[in-house]
Amino acid sequence: MFPFLDVAALNLRDEQALTDAFQRVLRSGWYVLGAEVAAFETEYAQACGVPHAIGVGNGLDALTLILRGYKNLGRFDDRDEVILPNNSFIATALAVSEAGLTPVLVEPDAATFNIDPQAVKAAIGPRTAAIIAVHLYGQLADMDALQTLASEHDLLLIEDSAQAHGAVDALGRQAGAFGHAAGFSFFPVKNLGALGDAGAVTTGDDRLAEQVRKLRSYGSTRKYVHDVQGVNSRLDELQAALLRVKLPSVERDAQARQAIAAHYLRHIRNPLLVLPQAPAVAGSHVWHQFVIRTQAREQLQAHLERSGVPSLIHYPVPIHRQAAYSEFAQLSLPISDELAAQVLSLPLYPGLPAAHQHAVIEACNSFSG
Ligand SMILES: *Cc1c(COP(=O)(O)O)cnc(C)c1O
Repeated sequence: MFPFLDVAALNLRDEQALTDAFQRVLRSGWYVLGAEVAAFETEYAQACGVPHAIGVGNGLDALTLILRGYKNLGRFDDRDEVILPNNSFIATALAVSEAGLTPVLVEPDAATFNIDPQAVKAAIGPRTAAIIAVHLYGQLADMDALQTLASEHDLLLIEDSAQAHGAVDALGRQAGAFGHAAGFSFFPVKNLGALGDAGAVTTGDDRLAEQVRKLRSYGSTRKYVHDVQGVNSRLDELQAALLRVKLPSVERDAQARQAIAAHYLRHIRNPLLVLPQAPAVAGSHVWHQFVIRTQAREQLQAHLERSGVPSLIHYPVPIHRQAAYSEFAQLSLPISDELAAQVLSLPLYPGLPAAHQHAVIEACNSFSG
């Protein structure tokens, strides 16, 4: 079986430049919060079209520090509610819990997999303080509808952009530039991946940027002077230097992903499979995952495996069914339950060999239940 994602091959495209970046950091003798992080922050803010990017340790911390920062700015009381999609990766909910707030899980739209603005609207109550829009599988959530709801109800709108680097809407707005702030992950398998854990916060809010800068480094802006109780969640100089090498490829990689997705959408034909919708604006989906649905997932996965085609499930257990969130076990969220039982991700990454793409299409089309 070929690999679902050949992350080494992706990085080896830049082997010499990555090696040079490593050597530059090695020789500098400065490994935490230095010139590389500062330069990456400037370059990433510019790439996203926002005033500020702040490098942090990982994507979970990016989201947590946004919430903690707004708490310090007086936007939250303890246990205030934050609305988020129930079919996301668990980190979206964990950030809310870690910041001492209450997750409110709502249903996605089954056609797009993204948070359903109608469900958000129905969940808004007196304690609601924020909405987290996850651009799931790389597709921008319905940001116009969510921005309207957020401004009508004076809520913070935060983007979980961990899967959507470079996604852009019809007006040229980038993932990370729609909300009050956004959290990015650069975990190695994301569309922009470091060679270890890494993340960033983007924001146009000067006061939040200042808070996150403090919080990531022990609550301090001056050495040994601590304004707030912070954490240690800094982006390494080394990861920043490596990310600077890879950042210029994000747009080209997104186009490569879009081309493979279009190829799958054109050639996979099987009444037992529901293909993902092609978005109205091509750039608004960067295809972090290509996710199909089927009522015969177990059989399909076995059939793909016999054909040498790998597949993965994102995600098999919705948040409200996780033991970690047993307090939500009684909730009725049938759409997320159904998706968790039916979704299957097919291999898709820049440089996926044509023969493997062909094998994916052939195996899907020859499945007969
Ligand atoms: C990966 C991911 C995160 C967490 O990022 P880490 O860097 O792994 O902490 C958060 N949300 C979503 C949607 C993700 O895919």
